[in-house]
Amino acid sequence: MTDHIDLHAHSTASDGSYSPSEVVRLARDAGLRAVALTDHDTTDGLAEAVAAGEALGVEVIPGVEISAKHGGDTMHILGYFLDFHSGQLEERLAVLKQARKDRNPKIIAKLNALGIAVTMEQVERLSGGGQVGRPHIARALLESGYIKSIQQAFDIFLKNGGKAYVSKFRFPPAEALDMIRQARGVPVLAHPFTLEMGSAGALRELLKELKADGLAGVEVFYADHAPEQEAMYLKLAQELGLLVTGGSDFHGLNKPEVTLGRIRSRDRLTYDLIKALKEWRQKEFG
Ligand code: AMP
Ligand code: ZN
Ligand code: FE
Ligand code: FE
Repeated sequence: MTDHIDLHAHSTASDGSYSPSEVVRLARDAGLRAVALTDHDTTDGLAEAVAAGEALGVEVIPGVEISAKHGGDTMHILGYFLDFHSGQLEERLAVLKQARKDRNPKIIAKLNALGIAVTMEQVERLSGGGQVGRPHIARALLESGYIKSIQQAFDIFLKNGGKAYVSKFRFPPAEALDMIRQARGVPVLAHPFTLEMGSAGALRELLKELKADGLAGVEVFYADHAPEQEAMYLKLAQELGLLVTGGSDFHGLNKPEVTLGRIRSRDRLTYDLIKALKEWRQKEFG
């Protein structure tokens, strides 16, 4: 076994293409010591993943990726080492699941109005049984030949500002941080580049606020971060006393350019990141 890890992966419980146990098997095959399952707004895949981890000798970190509000857009907050049987977490995640459920038919209706013949049935078939989200709609658009790649589906139709974009309810960041902490989880800001903060100064102020609201760390190492972004996030995290984490944001075939356990900027992520998360949790929650 190696010291390599991945702290960001999705399964069919949200919008990854592999089941929770398949994700763990892929982690084992990639020689990873540990993998975190971080599905969007759901803990539904965690029990299966943890069981698979025990069977295959991979440490599975029970996680989640919560959609919070950032202006008119999304801020993703990761939670690690969740007590995932916590009823309050399930209850509050159910609100976000319902919001996604309500939105999907509205996106399909917008696409249909544009003369694009994709259906909810097609999208559900492509979802693999878990929560349905935009990547599955992208898969349907690809399957029916309306676009040439998943990314093109987002760029033309599905991203904020796209032709078929529909907004959905999100919690304020402080509430997402609280949900994670109530389940004794370690909250980490995901892929800061998606916040489009413009300057290091603006991101510093935001990170300070989030830290005051309970944030523990920043996802510095990420598949899509350019070296200069990574350097900036690392510096800010160190300056503000925030933990540093990293992951690939693996989605299987729904994000084919990403490989489990791999990010662009460095060869490998190692177990020391997880050790720091565990130490933080021990100190904070005992
Ligand atoms: P949803 O949960 O339906 O809002 O879909 C969120 C997922 O869509 C995320 O996991 C991303 O992988 C993907 N996504 C969101 N925005 C984009 C974008 N601009 N380009 C590519 N993928 C995106
Ligand atoms: Zn996703
Ligand atoms: Fe994300
Ligand atoms: Fe993700």
